[in-house]
Amino acid sequence: RAGVAITDHSVNDAMARELTRQRDEVELIASENIVSRAVLEAQGSVLTNKYAEGYPGRRYYGGCQFVDEVEDLARERAKTLFGCSFANVQPNSGSQANQSVFMALMQPGDTFLGLNLAAGGHLTHGAPVNQSGKWFNVVSYGVRPDTHRIDLDEVRDLARKHRPKVILAGGSAYPRIIDFKAFRAIADEVGAKLFVDMAHFAGLVAGGVHPTPLEHAHVVTTTTHKTLRGPRGGMVLSNDEEIGKKINSAVFPGLQGGPLMHVIAAKAVAFGEALAPEFKAYAANVVANAKALAETLADGGVDIVSGGTDTHLMLVDLRRKGLTGKSVEAALGRAHITCNKNGIPFDPQGPMVTSGIRLGTPACTTRGFLADEFRQVGRLTMCVIDGLAAKGETGNAAVEAAVREEVHDLVSRFPIYE
Ligand code: PLP
Repeated sequence: RAGVAITDHSVNDAMARELTRQRDEVELIASENIVSRAVLEAQGSVLTNKYAEGYPGRRYYGGCQFVDEVEDLARERAKTLFGCSFANVQPNSGSQANQSVFMALMQPGDTFLGLNLAAGGHLTHGAPVNQSGKWFNVVSYGVRPDTHRIDLDEVRDLARKHRPKVILAGGSAYPRIIDFKAFRAIADEVGAKLFVDMAHFAGLVAGGVHPTPLEHAHVVTTTTHKTLRGPRGGMVLSNDEEIGKKINSAVFPGLQGGPLMHVIAAKAVAFGEALAPEFKAYAANVVANAKALAETLADGGVDIVSGGTDTHLMLVDLRRKGLTGKSVEAALGRAHITCNKNGIPFDPQGPMVTSGIRLGTPACTTRGFLADEFRQVGRLTMCVIDGLAAKGETGNAAVEAAVREEVHDLVSRFPIYE
């Protein structure tokens, strides 16, 4: 009966320190968010005990009547939220959602087009180290050197030349709205299926501040834990019944066994939250805040890749300050501003060093930060960057300590999990 605080001090203490870290730091990792207590509760529920291989009404285990209700709620809410006719909420992660699409639409050795990792694509979009890159013939497209935007002429040329089965659009570090209609036209011309991975911007689509890929794509995947602000997990959506059937077989039994019913419950709760009117305001704030942060950083003398952002994220090019992503990530970390180093298009540095950082607004917008707070975060970020530029790799301890103080004052005005 005893809880983890009594039974397991080691794990409990680490979890408590993680809670303190989340409370005390300005979280700018673009793929993270802060879920509600309701989402936490659903995920930490007794549904973790239940095996439910199969789908609602067609399970391989008894006793599934209540988890069926939960999965039906998650599927129906997902369909309403994104205006589509098919949803599979079982993928354990975004990566598995993507694998299920590959499994449903291709055979090993088939060709697909994806955005280059170096230009903002995700590992699962054909990186050589990933299964997607090992099992399929990947043709990568990139961004234009002058605009840092996807080069649709290149996509069209590559599609005509290689006749891919699938064209994949979406990425992890691409700050601009993607022209889904143009992608679909290219896919139709060469007889390919258009697959959009909206993991990063799904919450913006749900909140009505970003075009929906579902109007154009044959199939769409997402994670549920980024801008969508749900539990860690994945999902596949479509308006094509035949593709839906293939996806269902690919997720189970193709790739997974028993679905994580506690996570599916948390997904249902999160989708319910995203259907509420407040989520529209949240999504609008995420985008407005990203613009405010990007402008403040640009005023501070760093370049923003592509000149700005349409979404929740931005890539900061640090080369004008003579700094690397690795050193800036570490310095900001010492000042309790959390972000990740990230390659920029045509980066002269390798992926462990990089010339950039990726910043995003979803988590702190959930805390309640508005544009003024993000401008303050931008100024504090520039203090740390300029301190580092002046002092070298070890950073400027006095500047970082002063920024850390200001960060604590700021976050204490927007408490979480009280
Ligand atoms: N797709 C995109 C565009 C992502 O950014 C990510 C995660 O960062 C994934 C897929 C994979 O999600 P997961 O980490 O849940 O496997």
